[in-house]
Amino acid sequence: MTRRFAHVLATGYALTALALMHMAVVSWRAGSWPYAAFLAGASLLLMTAVVHHSWQSGELRDALERLEEAARPPAIPAAVADEIALGWQALAETCCLTAWESRGARHDRTTCTRKENPR
Ligand SMILES: [Zn+2]
Repeated sequence: MTRRFAHVLATGYALTALALMHMAVVSWRAGSWPYAAFLAGASLLLMTAVVHHSWQSGELRDALERLEEAARPPAIPAAVADEIALGWQALAETCCLTAWESRGARHDRTTCTRKENPR
């Protein structure tokens, strides 16, 4: 059952409940109170179904939100995020790949051509 069909069904329940209540009033005015009582009861039953549908939709929405929240990856701790930021900053400020890979050990700024692999 799609969500749209469920809403159409609930709307159908509500309209049928109103029609049944109208028939109950007409039956009561005609003096047929057993039919009036039965139709009014059926109308109340359908209105209960509409309320139940609304409540169930809310429960499903809440469950979906909880599932989405549980599926999200945990937040990165601030210390790790800072470390990552410092790493990106160091990478952006490095001269070339050789300097980055060797942490400056195999690197001479005076002769570096600033190419990716100046060997
Ligand atoms: Zn370099």
